[in-house]
Amino acid sequence: MDFADYGAVIEQQEREQLLAHLQVKNSIDKPSAMECQECGDPIPQARQDAVQGCQYCAPCQSEKE
Ligand SMILES: [Zn+2]
Repeated sequence: MDFADYGAVIEQQEREQLLAHLQVKNSIDKPSAMECQECGDPIPQARQDAVQGCQYCAPCQSEKE
């Protein structure tokens, strides 16, 4: 392996690490809301778990869809 190849491998690894980092960051940036962003009603824990990044209660969500 010459130096150029070695650099390419490192670059690839850094890219993958960055990508993994971004995916983790995205999932942290968008947690399910405790309360509906529309009406302020609490969102049940089961719904928060079922719908990743859930921001609305079921009635408000269905109105938006
Ligand atoms: Zn709502």
